[in-house]
Amino acid sequence: MAKRSVYFFGGGKADGNESMKELLGGKGANLAEMCSLGIPVPAGFTITTEMCTAYYTNKGKLPKVLEDEVAKAMAKVEKVMNKKFGDPKNPLLVSVRSGARRSMPGMMDTVLNVGLTSATIPGLVAKTKNERFVYDSYRRLIMMYADVVMEKAAGVEPAEGKGVRLQMEHAMEAMKKAKGYADDTQLTADDLKALADEFKKIVKKCLGKEFPDNAQAQLWGGIKAVFQSWNGKRAIAYRRIERIPDDWGTAVNVQAMVFGNTGETSATGVAFTRNAATGENLFYGEWLVNAQGEDVVAGIRTPSPINKATKGEQSAHLLSLEEASPKIYKQLDGIRLKLEKHYKDMMDIEFTIEEGVLWMLQCRVGKRTGMAAVRMAVEMAEAKLISKDTAIMRVAPIQLTELLLPMLDPKAEKVAKVLAKGLPAGPGGSVGQVVFTADDAAEWAGKGKKVILVRNETSPEDVHGMHVAEAILTAKGGMTSHAALVARGWGKCCIVGCGALNIEVAKKQMTVGGTVVKEGDWISMNGSQGKVFAGQVPVLPAQPELNPFYKKIMAWADAVRQINVRTNADSPADAEQAVKFGAEGIGLCRTEHMFFDPKRIIHMREMILAEDEAARRKAVMALLPFQRDDFYGLFKAMNGRPVTIRLLDPPLHEFVGGLTDAQIAELSKQTKISVDKINARIKQLHELNPMLGHRGCRLGIAYPEITEMQARAIFEAAAKLVKEKVKVSPEVMVPLIGTKAEMDNQAALIRAVAEEVQKEQKVKFAYMVGTMIEIPRAALTADKIAATAEFFSFGTNDLTQMGFGYSRDDVGGFLPYYLDKKILPEDPFEVLDQEGIGQLVAMAVERGRSTRPDLKCGICGEHGGEPASVKFCHRVGLNYVSCSPFRVPIARFAAAQAALETPRKCCTGKKCCKKADKKAEKKAVKKASKK
Ligand code: PEP
Ligand code: MG
Repeated sequence: MAKRSVYFFGGGKADGNESMKELLGGKGANLAEMCSLGIPVPAGFTITTEMCTAYYTNKGKLPKVLEDEVAKAMAKVEKVMNKKFGDPKNPLLVSVRSGARRSMPGMMDTVLNVGLTSATIPGLVAKTKNERFVYDSYRRLIMMYADVVMEKAAGVEPAEGKGVRLQMEHAMEAMKKAKGYADDTQLTADDLKALADEFKKIVKKCLGKEFPDNAQAQLWGGIKAVFQSWNGKRAIAYRRIERIPDDWGTAVNVQAMVFGNTGETSATGVAFTRNAATGENLFYGEWLVNAQGEDVVAGIRTPSPINKATKGEQSAHLLSLEEASPKIYKQLDGIRLKLEKHYKDMMDIEFTIEEGVLWMLQCRVGKRTGMAAVRMAVEMAEAKLISKDTAIMRVAPIQLTELLLPMLDPKAEKVAKVLAKGLPAGPGGSVGQVVFTADDAAEWAGKGKKVILVRNETSPEDVHGMHVAEAILTAKGGMTSHAALVARGWGKCCIVGCGALNIEVAKKQMTVGGTVVKEGDWISMNGSQGKVFAGQVPVLPAQPELNPFYKKIMAWADAVRQINVRTNADSPADAEQAVKFGAEGIGLCRTEHMFFDPKRIIHMREMILAEDEAARRKAVMALLPFQRDDFYGLFKAMNGRPVTIRLLDPPLHEFVGGLTDAQIAELSKQTKISVDKINARIKQLHELNPMLGHRGCRLGIAYPEITEMQARAIFEAAAKLVKEKVKVSPEVMVPLIGTKAEMDNQAALIRAVAEEVQKEQKVKFAYMVGTMIEIPRAALTADKIAATAEFFSFGTNDLTQMGFGYSRDDVGGFLPYYLDKKILPEDPFEVLDQEGIGQLVAMAVERGRSTRPDLKCGICGEHGGEPASVKFCHRVGLNYVSCSPFRVPIARFAAAQAALETPRKCCTGKKCCKKADKKAEKKAVKKASKK
């Protein structure tokens, strides 16, 4: 526990600093830092995150000492700002804002203008000689305070459409309509005074309580409400998605108000030190004259660009800050450069101009798209602002997904009907069915539909729908609106400020120009250019190799990476795609996928239905030419890179289960086996627990002809390529081994076939025989199995299934409860359970290598492409990870980060690098081929 609970900043001095994010939250720590850097920051203080924890432990009570500390800090703020909180003549107003360790944009609450009461209003009017401004601030305070403190924090759950804020918004709209105003800024002082009175009546009517007319009561109400908002619905939902721990808590920042809404010489704005969508090194931001910060972020008014350079087609006519106030723009640009130099990163800043004076209200590391993250990291490293290693650590592996995202086909775009244009807030191409509420998005997506969430503006309450939507489209808001910030953080296609949309949520439709788009209609979006099209525009796969920044950072990553990355692929086309993405081999070819072709399935079924070995052998051998061609194609595509082929794995009933009567009759005709016999065999094959039944090596042990055929197909394909002078490196993998005897049985069969084929074909080739480790017993007896197996590949899908005892196919029934009740931190089939299943992996590697020191170890379960799991694989000494083609770049990058975080020695004791692995691989292959 820290010695103090309150940290002051102001007048160029600060108790805290940038490194204290855990205690002061991101906002508090950075406000302190900016203050110490001599940047103009209104004075204030931060209440620590520890107080948030205390608030919850003490069931909503705050310790007495906090009151004293707050009073002392407030006195300091008053001194610096030369105003007094609650003073009738010279009142200080404050903002009360949240600030967690990691930014959670808009997910928690803020109250502005705290301290305005019937006692202080006249003083402020006299001092500012601006009655309109004072009442505008007052109506905002009532609205925010009633919504945040008196409704949300108090746990009041109004019926749909009956929330206090909405009622006030209606009242304001009604007044504007009655007076014929188009804009909020047209409301006069008298209008706003009347509106404030009406708002107070709404508070009383809706919530049964008076709006507090006391500065101290407002302050403490605000502080508690911010703590309370840590456990608000939106914040919890966001934390789940972002995996932010619940016990971090939020800090509270109380800061002197400066006003962007005093008139035409005041303004507010939000900016990024570089373009957060593309990464381009251009100061990028938006500003609004005569407004408070919430107006920009909430997307209520569409703001103007900050400078000329970043004006787009949509904003060419708007006046930039650079043009309106060149001096202030220059000062702001200077602060931008100072901040980037100091933080060595792209920063997201909020500022206010009060009567021509610039104030910085916030700075934090800015959220960015994956595309932008890559470009900024590369450009900053090239400008020597950061090192190459730091550049690699700057990009979250998952952000690369975006560069691998499909785009709308540009040719099809040319002829598609453009519905509207907006601001390109999140890149990529997206096609989906329109829905107009977040709940509908969640419902439709739950049914497997691709939806595009269309809103006037999004609010943090929409976060669940935004997350499941393919893309987000809003009528209002700018590049820094809530929708843009959140979508960008997730790498989601997003267009905002699309003013042409006339959305009628109640009717579940929108009109764009003359076109009516109803719920469920298809639209397409080009998020990189801000274009919305009617209907389904075809999408093209991404071509990351054309992006020079991507190419550079991947090359840097590959240079530090210590493990190889392979792919799971069953076809030459997938293999070729994966090689383009940088795959260094095939880690898993699931041969069963090759049997579903109509020409083959008949033989497969014949084999399954066979009554004796001779009939079965005949049917199996009919499959040989097909399999040989499959492997020939794969080996050729991989051109000498290792290819791990797994022998048949699934229970046989998968090939005959689910047949209709008509299909059975047809099968009977083709195989000349009676319908009754077929039905009897299907019945016989039925298993109560097929996942634990007759599958994996158990098939090859019961029916050796299957293994023989597959081994022969592999080796004949290899021999053919050797004759054609193409390099091959086959690795035959036996699935579901649990005992050494099983491995011995299958390895002997495979090796015998290899010898036969080499003799028959008069060629020599190297090959390996290994196993999957996917049964806990195999991990426990890995030392024994490694006496026969030349490599291990961890099948962590089955290992997780059998380690946890959760059926892979049925986990959906209870997993949501487990995640909700935090019984499990995440889905163990997605993210490897390092604590438990990880032990099995680590132990098997160690035990296996105790017998065979150069045992090659990899992973081919789904976890092989999940960044945290890849890092684990690096740490426990695997030689490679294998994943689906589209995750290959992500795995390459995660492996590089792992190498930087935890450089490792390899099994040979030397500093492990891919070269050492390659050497070990060559040696092992040579040894194997001598046998
Ligand atoms: C595994 O079990 O992890 C694996 C890769 O095999 P499959 O998913 O085909 O069972
Ligand atoms: Mg498996």
